[in-house]
Amino acid sequence: MPPPSLPTATIRTQVLVPLRFGEGYTTTARVFSFDGLVDGQEHVAFGLGDRAAPLTSSGAGRVPLVRPHSECLTGDVFGSQRCDCGSQLREAAQRIAEAGGYLLYLRQEGRGIGLYAKLEAYTLQDTGLDTYEANLALGHREDERSYQVAGQMLRALGVREIGLLSNNPDKALQLRRFGVRVATRVPTGVYLSDSNACYLTTKAIRGAHTLDIRL
Ligand SMILES: [Zn+2]
Repeated sequence: MPPPSLPTATIRTQVLVPLRFGEGYTTTARVFSFDGLVDGQEHVAFGLGDRAAPLTSSGAGRVPLVRPHSECLTGDVFGSQRCDCGSQLREAAQRIAEAGGYLLYLRQEGRGIGLYAKLEAYTLQDTGLDTYEANLALGHREDERSYQVAGQMLRALGVREIGLLSNNPDKALQLRRFGVRVATRVPTGVYLSDSNACYLTTKAIRGAHTLDIRL
């Protein structure tokens, strides 16, 4: 099967943004916006470590560490304990800053179903459905995320090969289909709490995520 087409996107703006996380970790990112992303959403790339340098002179020859991170307003911004997104984002920022690479912040909330639907899915989960069943009950697919824009963003950044920081095999699969060489897959940590144990277990079993959780 030929790879799906990947329309060309271009860099629209790049600007330095100093970052400071909740517990004090600081780093500086070069934030990129794009023209031509296929879904018209405002996805952004954070260049960290040696990739915070101006693009023309950044880390030539080294394979960047890349995490495509799907937006999670409740977890990323408010520290929701129903998922592990906030902790993963924080870990990814530091690990990518140390290794050099990109955090792709993808505006696909709730596995692509949107914020309101995600909150509705939470109410269904409170009645006993798991995270995938709840999405199906709402008329969505289990996971509606696409990584086509991630492929476009990487190509615009001149990146052909990556180390992929993710536990999700679907991300590697999709990126490869979009022509990105995944040289290595680097797992993220596991952030288990009373509130998200069920969610993480479901991801491990049904989503085939690489998570070391004792069941
Ligand atoms: Zn989340």
